[in-house]
Amino acid sequence: MSRYIGPSCRLCRREAVKLYLKGERCYTDKCGIEKRNYPPGSHVETRGKFLEYGLRLREKQKLRKTYGLSEKQFKRFFTLAANQKGITGTNFLVLLERRLDNMVFRLGFATSRKEARQIVSHNHIMVNQKRVNIPSYLVKEGDEIAVRNKEMPSVVNALESVVRRGVPSWIELDKESMKGVIKTLPVREDITMPIKEQLIVEYYSR
Ligand code: SF4
Repeated sequence: MSRYIGPSCRLCRREAVKLYLKGERCYTDKCGIEKRNYPPGSHVETRGKFLEYGLRLREKQKLRKTYGLSEKQFKRFFTLAANQKGITGTNFLVLLERRLDNMVFRLGFATSRKEARQIVSHNHIMVNQKRVNIPSYLVKEGDEIAVRNKEMPSVVNALESVVRRGVPSWIELDKESMKGVIKTLPVREDITMPIKEQLIVEYYSR
């Protein structure tokens, strides 16, 4: 399945939850789900009850859309997590968090993961003083992530609003020099988004 290029707010309305896909707009009263909290589609006004399969599918879609991945990329990460030692659901969430595009978003260099992916693929990010333009690159403990051009307007603006979102405790941001360090890899408790990863494990184990 190719990448979705339609309206982002539609994805939130489908999942009935804010996925924060549009940066600053998500925090204003222009948010699509604030204005129209019902599923997209012309004559649909209510949400029916999901059967078990539907529940698992929706949870999987919610997480996939949050990180903006195609089904193929998402499944690849799940397989990677399933092949690691430990709890597959937790491994999966940690792997998604370790993606370079997610790190750029978490550090506040971009207002959304979509914007972060663009910044990475346009060669604006260095990892340990080396240029890396692969959004799915997995960062590790101790890595330093920096913006190459400290005057990039989009990064300067994004950093101004990072206070509202906050920076996770497992990374350290140096706003002045536009760089961040992975102090430690996240554990399950550090990932605060409302997701039931066990349902996703069950979805892929069916
Ligand atoms: Fe989702 Fe953001 Fe659109 Fe609100 S503004 S519906 S959170 S993408």
